[in-house]
Order: sequence, then structure tokens, then C-alpha cells
Amino acid sequence: MERIKVLIIGSGPAGFTAAIYAARAALNPVLYEGIEPGGQLTTTTEIENFPGYPEGIRGTEMMNDLRAQALRLGADVRTGIITNIETSERPFKVTIDNEKEIEAEAVIICTGASAKYLGLESELKFRGMGVSACATCDGFFYRKQDVAVVGGGDTACEEATYLASLCRQVYLIVRKPFLRASKAMQERVFNTPNIKVLFEHNTVEVLGDMDGVTGARLRKGDGEEYDIEISGFFLAIGHHPNTELVKGKVELDEQGYIVVEPGTSKTSVEGIFAAGDVRDPHYRQAIVAAGSGCIAALDAERWLASQR
Ligand code: NDP
Repeated sequence: MERIKVLIIGSGPAGFTAAIYAARAALNPVLYEGIEPGGQLTTTTEIENFPGYPEGIRGTEMMNDLRAQALRLGADVRTGIITNIETSERPFKVTIDNEKEIEAEAVIICTGASAKYLGLESELKFRGMGVSACATCDGFFYRKQDVAVVGGGDTACEEATYLASLCRQVYLIVRKPFLRASKAMQERVFNTPNIKVLFEHNTVEVLGDMDGVTGARLRKGDGEEYDIEISGFFLAIGHHPNTELVKGKVELDEQGYIVVEPGTSKTSVEGIFAAGDVRDPHYRQAIVAAGSGCIAALDAERWLASQR
């Protein structure tokens, strides 16, 4: 059975930064890209707040750069999904795509977080037929049409602004009487003429037919319901951590995020480290994820050295 020193699970900024550091430390890291190669940044538009890019950079471009850097330094980047990990003994036995087994001396988990949905039956029915959690991926299909975005945070504002550049009318459906987003984002939304912010509104149902979404039934704060006509319904209501793989195996907090020893990347299982959004319910920024990937690689390197 193949035995590797450092296995990195996930290919966002945390995973690739961990790979860059582990490769430079001659640990021959193997990185499995997982379900969403490149992670969440591949679903965002322009990144303006990652230091080093004075003009900003597209999410996909930055992830391609990080991947290329990890490869150049010798990381072994592989396609595949880790479907099981045995944490009870070391080296850890890891299953890939439910078939191949490998052994890993140390594991760095960088599986990130995924978009949340409202949980409506109609939302599920029209997923991929007008319902989307990624404006950057799908906005193009709704050019010159009317769409809605649900949420009041930075993601919702960013997506609404992006969609407004393509679509005719964008409704921003916000359940509170205010936006939670940063002031700069709020200003962008309020200064975009074709975004209509619907405060104190909730979605009752996504409406549609054989061809996909045709509208949404909304409920106002006073209980009154009415329909809007839209062809795209975008969710931007936050994320949940991708920790199903390690549930019951490493300690998670009440929201499901991996708990790490403060100031480190060490999980409750010796030899398993965590980096990026999968352990960060607070900041969830690319630069923070990259920094924590670096910490995890250094922690893994020191821990492996201590085992000799
Ligand atoms: P947030 O958790 O910040 O916001 C989620 C939004 O969705 C809130 O307005 C929330 O409402 C609303 N919401 C949650 N559940 C429901 C529901 N069931 N029905 C209706 N509305 C709901 O998530 P974001 O993804 O926006 O942001 C996550 C983090 O990433 C934040 O720290 C943010 O600042 C950061 N970020 C930064 C960006 C940047 O700097 N360029 C871009 C994007 C994100 P309520 O307010 O009522 O709870």
C-alpha cells in the first residue's frame, strides 16, 4: 500500500498553501483536490483584498496560480475524493473514491465550507434549473433577465452587484430590516440602480414550470404575500463546514467546524491538522485560510520530526 508523509485534503487557498510549505520542507505532500477543485474562490468574481494584487484578481486565476506554484515546488496534486479516513491508529488508513487505499503519516484537512440553502422543497426541485448558490458560475445564463438574491451579508451584496451588471433587475431579499454586509458593500448595492432591496422579506416558495424558475412567492414582515417574476433565484445565506468525513472522529464544535488547539492547527487527533474555513467560523477569508494552511504545514512538519 502506498504510504505518504503528508496528505492534504482540499484544494482551496489553505490546501495549496499547506502544499507549498510541505513541499519546500521536502515532505513530498500529496493533495487531493476533492469535489470542488480550487474551492470557493473559483465561485467568486474579483478578489480585491488579497495582499499582493494591486489591481485585484479573479478567483479562478488566483487558484490556478496557487496550484501552479504548489506543482512547481513538487507537490503531488491528484484528482479524487477522500471517502473514508481511519483515525484510530497511525499511520492513518485513507480511502479514495471508495476504492483505493493509502496510508498517511500526517493529514491536513482543508475541506472548506459549502453554501447553505433555505430548505424549501421548491428550491430543491429547481436546483440547477434557475436555483443556484453561485452567481459567478451561473449569472451568465440570466443576462438581461430578472433575478433574485437571498441574504444580507457580504456574499449576497457581492452577488447582487455582480448580477446587476448582467441582468435587468435584481431583487435582494433580506429577512432583517438592515444589511449585515460591510459598509462598502452596502454602498455598492444602494448605488446600483437596478438592485431593489426588499427588507423584511422571506421566500415562501420558488415558482416554476417545466423550463425552470419563473418567480418567487415572498412574505413581507406584516404577513402579506406576493409574487415576483424572476428566472434566476440565487442563495447567499452563508455556509456550513465540510466535516462529514471526520464527524465522530475529530472534535467538532456545535456548528460542525473542526476544533483546533488555540494558536495551532492541531485537532483532537494527534497527527491530524486542520486549516482554512473548515476550522474557521469567524473570518472565512482567503488570506486567513492561506495563513492557516501555512501554520498546518509547519505544525505537521514539526510533529513528524518529533516522531523520529
Ligand atoms: P453571512 O453569514 O455574513 O450572511 C448570511 C446572510 O444570510 C445574513 O444576512 C443572514 O441574515 C442571511 N440568512 C441566513 N439564513 C437565512 C435564511 N434561512 N433566510 C434568509 N436569510 C438568511 O454570510 P456571507 O456568506 O455573506 O459572508 C461570510 C463571511 O465572508 C463574512 O465574514 C463576510 O464578511 C465574508 N465575505 C467577505 C467578502 C469580501 O470581503 N469581499 C465577500 C463575501 C464574504 P441575518 O443577517 O438575518 O442573520
